[in-house]
This record gives sequence, C-alpha cells and structure tokens, in this order.
Amino acid sequence: MRVTVPDYFDQFRCLAGDCPHTCCEKWEVVIDEETAALYGSVPGPLGEQLRRALVRDEEGDPCFALDGGKCPFLDADRLCRIHRELGGQATSVTCREHPRFTEEYGPFREITLAVSCPAANRLLLSSIEPLVFCTLETDEPEESGDPWLAGLLPLRERMIALLQDRKRPLRCRLRDFLLLAEEAQHCLEEAREAELPALAAGWQPTAIPETAGDEGRFLVRSLRLLASLEVLEEDWRTLLEQGETAVPEPVQEPLLERIAVYFAFRYLLKAVNDGDLLGRAQLCVFAVLVIQRLSAVCGLSEALRRFGCEIEHNEENLDALLEAFRWEEGLQLRGFLEAVSA
Ligand code: SF4
Repeated sequence: MRVTVPDYFDQFRCLAGDCPHTCCEKWEVVIDEETAALYGSVPGPLGEQLRRALVRDEEGDPCFALDGGKCPFLDADRLCRIHRELGGQATSVTCREHPRFTEEYGPFREITLAVSCPAANRLLLSSIEPLVFCTLETDEPEESGDPWLAGLLPLRERMIALLQDRKRPLRCRLRDFLLLAEEAQHCLEEAREAELPALAAGWQPTAIPETAGDEGRFLVRSLRLLASLEVLEEDWRTLLEQGETAVPEPVQEPLLERIAVYFAFRYLLKAVNDGDLLGRAQLCVFAVLVIQRLSAVCGLSEALRRFGCEIEHNEENLDALLEAFRWEEGLQLRGFLEAVSA
C-alpha cells in the first residue's frame, strides 16, 4: 500500500514534558475497547486508578474524565503515568496516534500531523520552501478505492500546484484555486467526474469581472461564525473578537502558502465521501484568511495552533463551516472571491 506524508513527517518528535500545550489537557481522551479491557486487568494502585477513572462518554465510548481540566494520568512532571509504568503500548490508540491524522482511501493512505500540536506546527512553519509530500510503499495489501479518486487525485495535484505558483501573488492563487474547485464541483454534480483529469491538466485562469473586494467585512463575518460554534477554550472567543478590529500585519507569503497547502492536502480528497469539493476548497481559503488576521493578535504559529485546536479536532465544527459556505450570506463563493480580490 502507498502511504503519503508531508516531507517533514519523520522529523516529528513529541515534546513530552516540555510541551507548552500538551494534548493531555482540555480534551477528554477516548479509550478504545481493547485498551479499556487491558486496563481491567492491570494490578496494583495504577490498575485501581485506571478503573476508577474510566467512564463512558455521551456516545457510550470509554474515556478518562478530565481531572481539573487534564488527563488524570498526567503527572507533576507533565508526563504520562501509564506510559511511564506500563509502556507506550499500554496507552490508548488515540494517545499513540496523536497528532497524526490518518485517512484511508483504499489503495492508499495519507497521514498528516495536526497543527494543534506545537511540535508539528513548528515543523510546518520552520521552512519557507514549498511543502512537498513523500510516498512510500508498505507490505500491506491495497484495497479498492472509490472511482472518484481517479479524477480527484490529479485535480488536487493541480490545485496544490496553483497554490504553489510563486510567480503570482498569493491572493490571485487563492482565487484561481477556488475557481478551479467551482468548475470541478459542476463536473461532480453533473456526473461528469470522468472529465476531472482533463480539467486538471488543461484549466487556465480566465479573466473574471472586477469585483469590489471587501476582505474586512468577510473577515468579520468569518470570525463571528467561528465564535458561534462549539468552543474548546473560552478565550478563543476573545481572540476572535480581537481579530475583528486588529490592524492586519504582513505575513510572509511562503508561510501562508504552506498553511494553504497543508489544508488542501488534508481536506480536498475528503470530497470523495460527500461530493463537497468546493466547500473544502473554501475551507482552505477560509483557514488562511482567518489565521492571517488572527496572527496580528497572537502571532502566526499561535493563530494556526488555535484554529487547529478549535476546528480540526471537532467534526461538528467542520460540518458547520461547510454548511455555512453553502448557505450563509457573504460566506458563499462570491464572498470568498471578493475577499481575495481586495
Ligand atoms: S501536543 Fe504534540 S508535542 Fe505536545 S505532548 Fe501532545 S503530541 Fe507531544
């Protein structure tokens, strides 16, 4: 099976006790059934604590209830007591996998590193080179994939190439990225998915009628939409509010481009599940514009990390954004095109 990862993937090292924003805080850790069963037989005081801490969440899955906002097994050195006493294999799948996002597409797998993790965030932003992805082969058997993948893969490749065309200003690249997504969306909706490879290969930017750009209004709408969603940490809303009036500060385009490509790689192929390619292209541009604005308040790395924490780990929030991009005034495609034309 082919496995594709960003080029910095192998450099990732968990910061463990030195992590300034450990993933062992704020999130309730879901425990897979196999690991929960293992905890049933751990002897001694740790075993007793494990069994006391294990509860069922609203969906009925086993989890550790937070204790003072953190995992009850995070010790005074900010290290995991389970890991220390029983070894890494005794931690849950969630703990072992984080910060990896793994997507299985049948014939291939893609893994990214969540930007909510400070170590992964740093790797993404520590270079201004174009972000590239590496593919390796494993011995695992390939499974069949959705027929749409044959068209979506070259399309995503072309969309990422548009983002990385450094001869042009980033705003123009974002606009073309959206326009190509719009055309591809028509193909998907009209059962013309077989045309996607040709569209990807032959698409050229066309002159579009001049629009009066209004990024400021678009951003206020975007920030208020985010503030209306589920929130992990309450001060996220304060940050969003500050973003409304923050004076925009310049950010190096190559870094914004790397952020755009991170989101494009991670989300565009997911259209295979529900056909919403345009919504995911909008999500990528939305993330870039919002993160750029918030960077004026808290810096680029922190803006990216907070966006990742609040949005990327919350499926309901992701769905709510895709829904808003379809229906909400000012946040449909036209609003995006006006914002990037500003
Ligand atoms: S957030 Fe990242 S660096 Fe920090 S403890 Fe978790 S995996 Fe390690």
